Amino acid sequence: MLHYQTIPVTAFQQNCSLVWCDQTQDAAVIDPGGDLEAIQWEVERLGLQLKAIWLTHAHIDHAGGTADLAEQLDLPIIGPHPGDQFWIDGLPQQGAMFGFPPSRPFTPTRWLADGDSVQIGHETVQVRHCPGHTPGHVVFHAPQIDRCFVGDVLFAGSIGRTDFPQGNHQQLIDSITQRLWPMGDQTVFIPGHGPESTFGRERKTNPYVGNT
Ligand SMILES: [Zn+2]
Ligand SMILES: [Zn+2]
Repeated sequence: MLHYQTIPVTAFQQNCSLVWCDQTQDAAVIDPGGDLEAIQWEVERLGLQLKAIWLTHAHIDHAGGTADLAEQLDLPIIGPHPGDQFWIDGLPQQGAMFGFPPSRPFTPTRWLADGDSVQIGHETVQVRHCPGHTPGHVVFHAPQIDRCFVGDVLFAGSIGRTDFPQGNHQQLIDSITQRLWPMGDQTVFIPGHGPESTFGRERKTNPYVGNT
């Protein structure tokens, strides 16, 4: 069985998530934007073995702690999609832009593409490419527990910004309606910021993608 625990990190209260297999206690951390001590404390409290870093996209609040954490614990970096290479290269400048501590670029151990899957312990999680907020944004879908980790694609009552370089509003809407909605109305999503919701509720009530 797959479990997860979300830990808000950084000044942007980004939802970093731990996901783990309860048969092996192997865990992956999704989007370690910063506050690495808080993440590691939670890993220890839950009795987990951290085995990998999974990234939805390379904005600093999601990926800022990646280089340090990967180095400290010798972890593979899985994702995002290669479209985000320029955001990875720009991590030092993103720190200055958003008032974050300096962050370093990194080289993903494995890039992700639409239709890929990633493994943690005995559990498999599906990858969908959902560009629009950033060109290389991916989401992690765990149908076995009806959960999807969507980063900054969709929020409860809102959608991701598309005014950054290579952002694209129509592409974002297409990602949501063509790649997220088919996962089912019952699917609970964990956004990069703010509370969880379901795709069904957003389909009905979200002013940006309601009635789609
Ligand atoms: Zn973002
Ligand atoms: Zn974010």
